[in-house]
Amino acid sequence: MSQHDDSQYQLDTLAIRTGHTRSFEGEHSEPIFLTSSFVYANAAEAAAKFSGKEPGNIYSRFTNPTVAMFEKRLAALDGAERAVATGSGMGAILAIAMAYLKAGDHVICSRAVFGSTVSLFEKYIGKFGVAVDFVDLTNLQAWQDAIRPETKLFFVESPSNPLAEIADIQALSDLAHAHGALLAIDNSFCTPALQQPVKFGADLVIYSATKYIDGQGRALGGAVVGKHQLLEEVFGVVRTLGPSMSPFNAWVFLKGLETLRLRMNAHCEGAQKLAEWLNQHDKVEKVYYAGLPEHVGHELAAKQQSGFGGIVSFEVKGGREAAWKVIDNTQFISITGNLGDVKSTITHPATTTHGKLSDAAKAAAGIREGLIRVSVGLEDIHDIIADLSRGLDLI
Ligand SMILES: *Cc1c(COP(=O)(O)O)cnc(C)c1O
Repeated sequence: MSQHDDSQYQLDTLAIRTGHTRSFEGEHSEPIFLTSSFVYANAAEAAAKFSGKEPGNIYSRFTNPTVAMFEKRLAALDGAERAVATGSGMGAILAIAMAYLKAGDHVICSRAVFGSTVSLFEKYIGKFGVAVDFVDLTNLQAWQDAIRPETKLFFVESPSNPLAEIADIQALSDLAHAHGALLAIDNSFCTPALQQPVKFGADLVIYSATKYIDGQGRALGGAVVGKHQLLEEVFGVVRTLGPSMSPFNAWVFLKGLETLRLRMNAHCEGAQKLAEWLNQHDKVEKVYYAGLPEHVGHELAAKQQSGFGGIVSFEVKGGREAAWKVIDNTQFISITGNLGDVKSTITHPATTTHGKLSDAAKAAAGIREGLIRVSVGLEDIHDIIADLSRGLDLI
């Protein structure tokens, strides 16, 4: 199908057809090229490929056909020119930091980002002389106030984890661009099936493919998506510094993309039902899900996203003891920090994913002791609700 112009196709067709360059074997399903290097007919061909005069594969840290198929398919789903795959979501964030930042530069990052993203900027990129400020995702004035002449990158996660706050992507993009900075959006929670940030002016879209793109909790991977020219530098970083994606994992993610929209729709449907059920439960203090009309980000999410996602957080009455009771009384929901899986998962953010934060930082981030985060899987929603009510009934 790569010989056709794929731009005529809709998302569901792109997800299944884009990127497969059929080999001479005529295989129907995408092949896995588990090879570290590639061979040449003669010395002259090797020289031409190594010098870049002729296109072609050299070594799988640089390019690999299965990885390339995944990159083409993901870029098509995002409505973007290009994707560069990485060995993990953190590998993708590291790659953009190495590609676009240098000593003296400044980054503005939304406060409620993935924990390792905070350490990446503060500790590891920070030691090379790059400064970072963390600001409230939804407070545009705070972004404006944090801008310095050296600001090169805005980094945003929307919806945020675990409280599902929603960033105004277009407004942040306008602000970043007015000051010559790039806007990067970590879109791991929505995936391109629910949100395509480039449409709202994002320059770089980041994925942890480990989550919904795989969708079955098997493989680690990531990607950076954006304009061709901009991604050339990310490609250079990945091929040189080494956070490349394994061809086997790329194949898992290719298969994941084929069912991504169906799965995301089902995750959204289950999450909406769970959020509505929790919302009327008398042991529940508050539900954080943008699909509820009273959520502060509801209208913005409805504008930017085609679904509200599969993550539901809620606060129970009775603090940590009550929250742990709900978690410990589940029978099948997995107690694990991972998310975006067909299997539902449950976590207590205050003592796990956000456990390293000081009490003040937790308070600022709205992570209270009664808060529980559920990644709604694809089990029957009635069973998921029953599994959660066991503990709620004991509070
Ligand atoms: C998991 C996650 C990451 C990190 O991805 P890995 O694949 O675990 O390296 C980054 N951002 C978000 C939003 C995530 O959920």
